[in-house]
Formats: sequence, C-alpha cells, structure tokens
Amino acid sequence: MEFRFCPLCATPLDRQVSGDRLRPSCPRCAYTQYRNPTAGVAVIVRREDGALLLGRRGPDARFGAGQWCIPCGHVEWDEDVRAAAVREFAEETGLTVRLTAIAAVESNFHDARQHTVGIWFHGVITDGNLNPGDDLVELAWFTTDILPVLAFATDRLVIQRLDAP
Ligand SMILES: [Zn+2]
Repeated sequence: MEFRFCPLCATPLDRQVSGDRLRPSCPRCAYTQYRNPTAGVAVIVRREDGALLLGRRGPDARFGAGQWCIPCGHVEWDEDVRAAAVREFAEETGLTVRLTAIAAVESNFHDARQHTVGIWFHGVITDGNLNPGDDLVELAWFTTDILPVLAFATDRLVIQRLDAP
C-alpha cells in the first residue's frame, strides 16, 4: 500500500521519481515513502524420523486461517534475526530451540501490504513443552510426503527442497 498522507507531517503526498521509481513524496517536509520488504523468520525442526513440526493458524490469522505453516514471525525493528527466530518459535510452540544453519532465504509476496524476505533456519529443540501459542492453535508433526494444506507457498517450496537429492 502507498501512503496518501505524509506519516511525518500529515500533508497529502505527491509522487516524485526517486531511484527510478515513482514514489509517494511529501511536498512540505520532503519525506519519501520507500516501500521495502521487512524480514520474516521461521524455524524448521525435524524429528529423528524426518517429520517436521508445523502449526495450524488460528481463525484470526490475516493469512491462511485454519491452514498450516512452519512456525514463523516478524523481526522487530531492533532485533537480531536469530533472536527473532528463537523468540517466535518459543511464542508459537512453547519450545526453546537452538538454531543450527540457514535452510533457505526466499521473497514472500503473499501480503500485498507488506512483502517480506523470509529466512528459514534449521533448529533443534533444547527445552520446553509442546504448547501452541500466539498465531497457532495446534501443533503436529508431518512427514514431507504427506503435508496438510499450507498457508504459504514459500513454506511448500522450502519443504519440497528439504529432502531433494
Ligand atoms: Zn511531510
């Protein structure tokens, strides 16, 4: 979404070319709206048999209500991406996780209001009890060949690549 009013001084915005794109621009205070993706983080945890932990999104989720996703969330303004991944995973699963490696990085375009760059980490559980929270209402283990309906196309892409030769 493009702003119609300046978020700094509330003046109606014009559009000016900046960096080869026409962007909302304030004629009064020179604010320019650069629409950039924010960062999202997700953690892939797998059992010994290869099954991965997915969560079912609650009825109030903006996207994919009732559908499943890899536990995920947004990075806060002043937060390290790895700290955000650990925090989001704990909020959504009740589990403490130790991140091991980056599994994937993809662009998410499912939300027209806010595109994100998603970072999927591999993680191992170190503590806690399985307990859905935040956006999730149910947690379950799925093998990669029998998946539930997934909320995000990029989750599917990332999962498909997990066991690819
Ligand atoms: Zn302004």
